[in-house]
This record gives sequence, C-alpha cells and structure tokens, in this order.
Amino acid sequence: MLDYSHDDWKSRAAGLSFRGQAFIDGKFVDAVSGKTFDSINPATGAVLTPVSECDEEDINRAVAAGRAAFEGGRWSRMAPGDRKAVMLKLADLIRDNLEEMALLDSLDMGKLVTDAVTIDAPGSAHFFQWYAEAIDKVYDEVAPTGPGDLALVSRVPLGVVGAVTPWNFPLDMATWKAAAALAAGNSVVLKPAEQSPLSALRLAELAAEAGVPDGVFNVVPGFGATAGQALGLHMDVDCLAFTGSTAIGKMFMQYSGQSNLKQVWPETGGKSPNLVFADCEDLDAAADMAAFGIFFNQGEVCSANSRLYVERSIKDAFVEKLIARAQGTQPGDPLDPASKMGAIVDEKQTQGIMRFVEAGKKSANLVTGGERVTVDGKGCFVQPTIFDDVTHDNPLARDEIFGPVLSVIPFDTEEEAVRMANDSIYGLAASVWTDNLSRACRVSDKLMVGTVSVNTVDALSAQTPFGGMKQSGFGRDLSLHSLEKYTALKTTWIKYKA
Ligand code: NAD
Ligand code: MN
Repeated sequence: MLDYSHDDWKSRAAGLSFRGQAFIDGKFVDAVSGKTFDSINPATGAVLTPVSECDEEDINRAVAAGRAAFEGGRWSRMAPGDRKAVMLKLADLIRDNLEEMALLDSLDMGKLVTDAVTIDAPGSAHFFQWYAEAIDKVYDEVAPTGPGDLALVSRVPLGVVGAVTPWNFPLDMATWKAAAALAAGNSVVLKPAEQSPLSALRLAELAAEAGVPDGVFNVVPGFGATAGQALGLHMDVDCLAFTGSTAIGKMFMQYSGQSNLKQVWPETGGKSPNLVFADCEDLDAAADMAAFGIFFNQGEVCSANSRLYVERSIKDAFVEKLIARAQGTQPGDPLDPASKMGAIVDEKQTQGIMRFVEAGKKSANLVTGGERVTVDGKGCFVQPTIFDDVTHDNPLARDEIFGPVLSVIPFDTEEEAVRMANDSIYGLAASVWTDNLSRACRVSDKLMVGTVSVNTVDALSAQTPFGGMKQSGFGRDLSLHSLEKYTALKTTWIKYKA
C-alpha cells in the first residue's frame, strides 16, 4: 500500500464510484427537494459527483429515523458486548477499504493521499475499535446510601445525537463523534461539511454492512445555514456535537436556547502557540516539528502551531532552519506520493488565506513563500509561508488563518513568552520546547489550553481527551471522557427490607 505510485493512485481514483445521496434509515435517498450540489476536487477544480442538498425536511426524516431506532432498542438496548462486536466489524471494514476511504478525503478536500492512507483512514478504524473495546469495560456506580436503599448511578444514552463536522479531517471528525456516540447506544444524525461529505457517506454504508441497525447512523449532507441549522434547532435532538469555527459554535449555543435546551458541545478554532526556549538541546528536531505543526494538512488543523515564539538569542538561526524546511514542503498533486503538501480545501478558503498573506506582506517580514500557486496549471494551492518579526497585535498573530502560514515572534523571558502565549481568545493547544524539566512543568502549568505538548507538537491519542479552553470551546473528543458527553447520569433508588 505504501508503495503505491502516483499512477497507481490516479488509476484507483479514476475507478472510484461515489455515493452522493443522503443515508437515512439504512438507505441512500435523494433530498426531498431533489436538489443537489457539486462535490469538487480542489486540486483540479473537477466535479467529483453531485451530492444531495438536504435541508430541514431531510433532517426531520433522519431525526425521526434516529428516534424510532432508539426507542425500538435494537441498538440502544443491545448488550454492550454485542455493540462492541458490530463496531469491531466496522473497524475491520474501514481497514478493508482503506485506500478508498483515503482517496475520498484526498479528492474531496485536497489532503495528501499518503497522509490520508497512513493517518486519517487507519485512525478512523482505530477509534472505532477503541470505543468498541471500551464499551463493555465501563462500570456504573452504587452510591454509599444506608441499608434499605440501593441507589444506582448509571450512565444512559441520551437518544438522538446530532453531529456537525468540518472539512479538514472529514473521516476522522465524523469518527470522533460517531464512534463514541454509537458506542454509548445513541442514534446519530451527522451533517458533514459541504466541502467534503463523501467519506462520511461511505462510512455510513460500511456501518450498515457491519450490522448497525437501520436508523441508528444517518448522514445528511447539505449546507450549514439550512441542514446544519435545522439540526441545531431541532426539538427532538438531545445533544449536538459540533466541530468547526468559533462563530458557528456560538450559533449552536443559541440554537439550543431557542429550541429544546439540547446539550451543545462546541469544539472550535485555535491559534496555538509553540514556545521554543534557547535551552532546547535539539533545535533541529524542534524545527522539524515546528514546520510539521504548521504545514501538515496545509495548515488546516484546528490545533496547528501557527504562532511561534522563539527566544531572541536563537531566533534568527531557528528561522533559517524553518525556511529550509518550508522550502522542502512545496505543494503538489495530492495523489503524488512525492508531494509534500496538498491543496487548500476550496477557492473561498484559498482567497481567505491569501488576504491574510497580502496584509502580512505590508505589516511583517515575509521570509519565505507568500504566493498562491497552481499544480499542472490548476487548483487551490498556497506556498508554505513564514512571516518573521510579527508583532503580537498583528492579525497574523491573533486570527485563525487555517492555512500554511506561520508567524514568528521573538521573546526575551519565560514570563513574557507565557503571557503572549496566553493572550489569545483561543486555548486549544500549545507546544513547549526546552530540556529544563522544571521550566517544562512550570510553563505547561501556566498555559491555558486543552493540550500541552512538551518537546513535540500536537500530541494526540485515543486514550487522551482532545478539546480546548476559552473560545476554542469546551467539547472533549476521544478518551473515556468523551462518553460522558453522550450519556446522562441517571439515579435509580430501590427500597428494600433491610
Ligand atoms: P465552519 O464553522 O464554517 O463549519 C463547520 C460545520 O458547521 C460545517 O458542517 C458547516 O456546514 C456547519 N455550519 C456552517 N454554518 C452553519 C450555520 N449557520 N448553522 C449550522 N451549521 C453551520 O468551519 P469549517 O470552515 O468547516 O472548519 C474550520 C474550523 O473548524 C476552524 O475554525 C477550525 O479551527 C475548526 N476545527 C476545530 C477542531 C477542534 O477539535 N477544536 C477540529 C477541526 C476543525
Ligand atoms: Mn470537495
């Protein structure tokens, strides 16, 4: 698999068939309106397939199917060990179709197929497997009440979980929500991002093949302002798990207040700082990971290390190392294993990134990149770009760009570095590079973020919670803690003759 050539991937892509219809109640169906929109490959501009443009009516159908399935109990009341078996089968099916799942994300949103086939698609299988294996090992509680009372404190599924996901890791974001919500016994109605709905639709089909009963896992593609809003405002959705921008995360909180007080779990934007201290012994490793932290997935990563704070004494030498790495990370055809970076998700995002870059050319020191480029004369591609001497109040240092654009800011003291790192509306993640153990612990302790990575970037696993503080939202995906989102605490008192 890892030996696939560019031609191998191109011929596999050419042979792919796409599912563009909504998946509701165990079947692929058109939108009630009959409308479709085009799924576009940003690397070429080519239309991949028409996709059902679902709106409120389709959301209503999917939620009704989810509710009926939940009340029918085939999934919600299935023994955890049996749900586990179905989800393990799904993990196997994802592995059996790994190249297809990887290609769907690569073609739909421009990421490198080699990343998709080694990271995203195996990750999806792994997360389904992890929650499958977990679900028959989670115990409830018996409260310490007196004799004559048996008080059970248990975690029960909520009912219908709505999930609204972004386009940067289409399969994995769908998986992070669905795997935990399904493991807990809920029904799910997922609205994937309109830029990249294809892998989630195929995932729903594989879930049905694995034995997930009809109505339990529905995928309803459509636009945010129609389908997304309908899910947010729905009176019969019990919980809404959202990953996307901070602005839309705030809207989901409002939708809840305007409707049925559904629980909302926003996981939103970021502007993650990476702090490099002069006492870091392996500055080459730090530079490798600093570059990875901003150029991986074209910088379209919520936790991307987009603010780089470097101690002034090593700043110039460190920036030289970064420039070399950026120049070795030029974009290319996402299907070419030799390419180092893929395409930006669409025209709109590309133009948004370039607006930041053009403004940056007037307000900071562009040291590499800074241009939009084409590959084979086509597509949405942006060079890996680094601005040095960015002032802390520059939009380059404050706003989420969501592209391959790094802002370098020097610091003189540990205290100043921590203060600037925390001076952000976001608090998703941070990295710290130092070989001074006390400093590593002290700085990590002070950073107001959901995840601190010391001497690495973006550390993440199924075993640890992922999510933010401040306006990065408060939802947590992954780990057993994610199950808490998708369950309610229920107390059952039983009187008996002691
Ligand atoms: P977005 O907020 O524009 O869209 C996310 C989802 O919300 C999409 O499915 C979209 O259709 C839907 N949506 C848009 N407008 C809506 C509305 N008015 N009502 C209801 N739904 C609506 O974000 P995006 O551009 O797709 O993704 C990029 C953002 O996602 C970035 O801000 C990034 O930081 C964030 N993100 C966060 C995490 C995390 O875990 N914290 C992970 C990945 C991405
Ligand atoms: Mn697309």
